[in-house]
Amino acid sequence: MDRLKNKVVLITGAGRGIGKACAIEAAKEGADIIISDIGRNMDSVPYDLARSSQLDGTEEMCRELGVNVFKKHADVTKADEISALVQEAIHRFGRIDVLINNAGIGAPAGKPAHEYSSDEWDILLNVNLSGPWRMIRAVAPIMIRQKKGSIINIASTAGLLGYKHFAGYVASKHGLVGLTKSAALDYAMDNVRVNAICPGPVYDDEFVDGSMTKVVADSLGIQLGEQEEIDLQSVAMNTVVSPTDVAEAAVWLASDESKRVTGTNITVDAGYSAK
Ligand code: NAP
Repeated sequence: MDRLKNKVVLITGAGRGIGKACAIEAAKEGADIIISDIGRNMDSVPYDLARSSQLDGTEEMCRELGVNVFKKHADVTKADEISALVQEAIHRFGRIDVLINNAGIGAPAGKPAHEYSSDEWDILLNVNLSGPWRMIRAVAPIMIRQKKGSIINIASTAGLLGYKHFAGYVASKHGLVGLTKSAALDYAMDNVRVNAICPGPVYDDEFVDGSMTKVVADSLGIQLGEQEEIDLQSVAMNTVVSPTDVAEAAVWLASDESKRVTGTNITVDAGYSAK
């Protein structure tokens, strides 16, 4: 398949989970791939972020698909690290056609809004909302010069609905949906499209590490299995969403098949938010 042939796709948070699946699905479609993640833990985030070796794993799987790959660690909360990532990517490939803003954190959570510390609140907004904005700030000028680009923000059903005891995450993802709509208007005349994908609960599989969802269950005082069962009962199609399901939607938004689609969001949630 070559729906993304001659395109260069940059994905944040690509060490595991949805980001890894996006890198692999884009590589299957012939894109050259730039992958990034933080590769170290963050203060205030109560679970392990991916190890450096996990990004190596994504790189290897993409290379096996015969595409060019550039990888570099960058923290989306650090403007200097983003700038170095984008500059090196441009030096290597000369263009960036698609930006997939996937890096995100699911916790701190598990308490009412007034019980968050300032640090806990700030880190959620800093990674999940300001992170994509920093990436857009670095990449949009390149896409405007090219007169072509597709920016895909991985939001969440938490960008559309409230979730009890998840005010920080929900606020960050609602913000990301709002950023998506406004940026779509800002760049529409430059042929740079901006869309969001809102996945429902995505569970452990060969790609998803599970530590983020486990901490969510822990913070609600229940076992991971119980959390999965509760989520499953809320999903109209009675099935969980896989990282690859989300990545397939991202490939479509990255491709020219969606050339008239901007400022929207696609829910990939097996009917979770339809009720
Ligand atoms: P995951 O397995 O924890 O992966 C998240 C990725 O984000 C990790 O690769 C991590 O990097 C990266 N990351 C975190 N903080 C970062 C930072 N400051 N700078 C750069 N990278 C950073 O989670 P996932 O389940 O695949 O989630 C991916 C995205 O989908 C997130 O935006 C999440 O909110 C969203 N989402 C997930 C679900 C779900 O049920 N899992 C549902 C809806 C939406 P490292 O690889 O270095 O740790």
